[in-house]
Amino acid sequence: MKKILLVEDDPFLIDIYTTKLREENFEVVVADDGDKALEFVEKEKPDLVLLDIVLPNKDGWEILKEIKAKNKKIKVIILSNLGQKEEVEKGLNLGAEKYLIKSNFTPSEVVEEIKKLI
Ligand SMILES: [Mg+2]
Repeated sequence: MKKILLVEDDPFLIDIYTTKLREENFEVVVADDGDKALEFVEKEKPDLVLLDIVLPNKDGWEILKEIKAKNKKIKVIILSNLGQKEEVEKGLNLGAEKYLIKSNFTPSEVVEEIKKLI
């Protein structure tokens, strides 16, 4: 079973994505702040990180940098409300496999994007 680390601080989205991913037979671990995200990347060795940007403690940019500095094999999809061109470019330049803007993707579509990668 492939393991997803969901890094998200919105309880509503945590609920939706956790339910959806488990239905699709992914193992899901949730981190609701930046410190936990980095701790769980080490401890849980996820196949993919679904990463929010605006988070308590450490933001998604910092988390992405640290993930890619440590283990380039862990795939990262950014899922954020931030949708400016500069933000998308920044995410991809820092090594994210994909940058999805929350308002443009349903949970089912996000799952499809995940399945293309792992
Ligand atoms: Mg957030």
